Amino acid sequence: MTISAVETILLAGKPVAAEIKSGLSRSIAALKSGGITPGLAAVLVGEDPASQIYVRNKAKAFVKAGCFSETFRMAGDVPQAKLLQLIEDLNRDVRFHGILVQLPLPDHIETKKVIYRIAPEKDVDGFHPVNLGRLLEGVPNFIPCTPHGILKILEHYRIPVKGRQAVILGRSNIVGKPLFALLSQKSKYGNATVTLCHTATPDLAYFTRQADLLIAASGVPGLVTGSMVKQGVDIIDVGINRIADSSPKGYHITGDVDFESVQGIANSITPVPGGVGPMTITMLLYNTVKAAQNLFESQN
Ligand code: NAD
Repeated sequence: MTISAVETILLAGKPVAAEIKSGLSRSIAALKSGGITPGLAAVLVGEDPASQIYVRNKAKAFVKAGCFSETFRMAGDVPQAKLLQLIEDLNRDVRFHGILVQLPLPDHIETKKVIYRIAPEKDVDGFHPVNLGRLLEGVPNFIPCTPHGILKILEHYRIPVKGRQAVILGRSNIVGKPLFALLSQKSKYGNATVTLCHTATPDLAYFTRQADLLIAASGVPGLVTGSMVKQGVDIIDVGINRIADSSPKGYHITGDVDFESVQGIANSITPVPGGVGPMTITMLLYNTVKAAQNLFESQN
């Protein structure tokens, strides 16, 4: 008897993002009729090309959704004190419900100090310790955008989480650690048994082979191959890796998973690009609308 391979389902981010944006447009209209236009202040330090693209795309998405967005650009050698002063000013500026500082920051700037300076009620990236602490406690206010977007993809495509063995590759504060908290929590899109792997994990494949749900957020292109996963695994590929090539753009984007080699083994996988990527900006919009709603509710 021959066993035919399953067809791996593609978990595209765009339809999920569109559904969320359509719900948000009603909330935005309601806020506007109450005199509030959700506003985002984006802070961009230096000339990093990827950061410039990210900030431009975020600003575009906000304007398209009928929200307000302004980008504050600072030179790569800006003194830290000047950046901290800008954050203080934005904390007080009533036009902005959310503040986003595009990472990474130049080496002479202490990233933690900058993040800690953002008022928690405007921390729409969800990186401030108050917001991360609330997340860990199970009472989140702002969930970091990429992990939140991943939950929305799982929910949209009805990928089961409860009772499954989830394995996360990467322990960053912006992806791996918040996801660990979310997936292990006793909640609708939690209740998984979660393993968090990182650079000091010996024999990565030992862990990835146990995964029913595998989330790759290592920033290592093609780290996960077909021989490292079990039949029927659901894979979320968070990686966005720029690979230099001879195309007019000079590069292409790949994920952390060797997409071709998991075909027919994985039950499903998010494509790169077009999977988690479109969700991150959408969840930033979601958090900024939430910040504006929080303010509206506190005033009424
Ligand atoms: P990071 O560099 O801060 O963290 C990477 C993590 O991966 C580290 O914790 C490290 O321990 C772990 N790691 C590295 N090599 C490993 C290996 N060989 N085995 C096991 N673990 C390993 O990165 P990050 O900011 O968390 O981002 C991770 C990836 O996700 C990057 O490619 C990034 O571009 C991408 N990303 C995408 C989105 C999106 O919107 N799709 C958002 C954020 C990050």
